[in-house]
Amino acid sequence: MAETVIRPVIAGNWKMNLGPSEARAFCERFAQTHEPHADRTVLLFPPAIAFSAVADALAARRDIRLGVQDIHWETKGAFTGAISAAMARDAGAGFALVGHSERRHVFGETDEETGLKVAAAFDAGLVPVLCVGEKIDERRAGQVEAVILRQLEAGLARLAEDRIARILIAYEPVWAIGTGETATPDDAAAAHGTLRTWLRQRINGAADAIPILYGGSVKPDNAAELLAAPDVDGVLVGGASLDPVSFATIADS
Ligand code: PEP
Repeated sequence: MAETVIRPVIAGNWKMNLGPSEARAFCERFAQTHEPHADRTVLLFPPAIAFSAVADALAARRDIRLGVQDIHWETKGAFTGAISAAMARDAGAGFALVGHSERRHVFGETDEETGLKVAAAFDAGLVPVLCVGEKIDERRAGQVEAVILRQLEAGLARLAEDRIARILIAYEPVWAIGTGETATPDDAAAAHGTLRTWLRQRINGAADAIPILYGGSVKPDNAAELLAAPDVDGVLVGGASLDPVSFATIADS
């Protein structure tokens, strides 16, 4: 089934937080606090171990869509600890984060591997959310465009145009993730504009419909101004998505 995505997209990445019991408690509170909205897409990325608990707890809330935080590019085999895109799909996921900065910089994931994962996600019927973003030294060296376009190009390298048109992108400057330091709306708009321009050159007008999310210390008090910036079609929220009331406030921004 093709995933329909309405912008803005408000996504929560729990990282390695909230096991099944805490996840169930989060869902109960979030469902009470956040009413369904037809004019946006709300997405949660729980840890794989809590995925089924979340899917069960939110079974009556089809407006809250679910994804996994990472997939392996192979379909099965001797990859201890990994999950395949098909397994995630079977568990009820519609989306997969790919190339999150922690996967790249903590676990050493390469650009080439993100390209394999993006293709594997589509092959299994998942919509990938490809994350790109520069480190602080790269920003200081004036390399923002070069870094994010290199990551974008590598992430999309194995896709035909029709698949590129269905992807989601997240611009997440590494220096803003989990640090409390947020990119200004102008910084976000500049990076998103760079990504959009490249996408237009690659797939023409269809590029305008690709959701480009901003991520990096998004909180209830800065979400609205970031969402109002040009070319910012949503937010990917880490820390503030762990609290159901904070995340509900952002989802209502
Ligand atoms: C993230 O994990 O994708 C993220 C943006 O984290 P935080 O909101 O905590 O900076």
